[in-house]
Amino acid sequence: MKILIVDDSRHVRTQLKLLLKSADYTDLLFAETASEAFGLLGVDSPDEGECTVDLILLDIIMPDIDGINSCRILKTIERLKDIPVIMVTGDTSEESLQQAFEAGATDYITKPLKKIELLARVGAALRLKQETDARKNRELQLRARELQLLETTNLLERANQQLQESNERLQRMASVDGLTGVANRRYFDEYFSKEWRRASRLSQRISIVMIDIDFFKRYNDTYGHLQGDECLKQVARGLTIPLKRALDLVARYGGEEFVAMLPDTGLEGAIEVARQLQETIRDLQVPHAGSPVAPYVTLSMGVATLVPHKDIAPDLLISHADKALYQAKTDGRNCFRYYETAANE
Ligand code: GH3
Ligand code: MG
Ligand code: MG
Repeated sequence: MKILIVDDSRHVRTQLKLLLKSADYTDLLFAETASEAFGLLGVDSPDEGECTVDLILLDIIMPDIDGINSCRILKTIERLKDIPVIMVTGDTSEESLQQAFEAGATDYITKPLKKIELLARVGAALRLKQETDARKNRELQLRARELQLLETTNLLERANQQLQESNERLQRMASVDGLTGVANRRYFDEYFSKEWRRASRLSQRISIVMIDIDFFKRYNDTYGHLQGDECLKQVARGLTIPLKRALDLVARYGGEEFVAMLPDTGLEGAIEVARQLQETIRDLQVPHAGSPVAPYVTLSMGVATLVPHKDIAPDLLISHADKALYQAKTDGRNCFRYYETAANE
């Protein structure tokens, strides 16, 4: 460990050197004045330490800046303030010692120098410095680890958020029909079986409306397939308008066929919805020159209602609606029919 000795007396410097070397303190630096010591320590360039020492033995009475003031100055410099300073003094008056401690001195040694006292106090101060250094190191390491942890946590949080976002995107993509933006068949199947089970549990009615665009093949033939796609989009948007309840769902069932599912809705309610769907699409007045039934796009629909229970399969409701839709088609299209449920169903 390195010790800086600041004393204007050559005699005292030599004496200190001999005593310290006798105890194997060989790394010694000497300064005659406080200014010289400041130069060695780089006091005027506070950021880049010229050299750093582990202990300063500081004479109190010196020509330019005395020991008390020097100590005070050193303690104001962040980089140097933890270096212990032992005052070397012939003046052991209470006032002088109080001044020294107030200036930040760690300890004092009285002149004339006594070997035992000197070595005991130097040893204690160096141990203190070692402990301070070790503590500072531990704190630095701890801070570094904390920062690292914080960075890792932030990274993890960001990655997690991105994952969640892309999961949501994937889920949306997997449940939405790419062309029309309404729910796709996969989502309908899931939702239907979930609502079926719920209705079954609560003995609630469930209705569906199967919807098919009339003469759509002729629409494509007349206006082209791309325009056909546009028409499907317009119709899909229109179909969502009359469905106002939170649990209602419109899905693309396939091709130019859509389905509206109406949980907790009876036949009358479902018929009313079919009527509104018919009107909404009629009001769109999408031209359909190839249609024999109207100069604009029209729908045929089949309505069916059931109270689910464990002995019937969900497909039954779909097949009822399909039958009613077929009836609407054979009855001339641009209309809806409903499936009359037998009393035992
Ligand atoms: P109907 O009144 O009996 O329902 O007659 P239709 O012509 O509508 O019925 P059909 O089942 O014979 O034809 C359905 C047409 O819908 C044929 C198919 O090319 C067209 N179609 C199905 N999906 C799409 C699509 O995504 N885009 C376009 N443009 N056409 C489609
Ligand atoms: Mg059709
Ligand atoms: Mg069809």
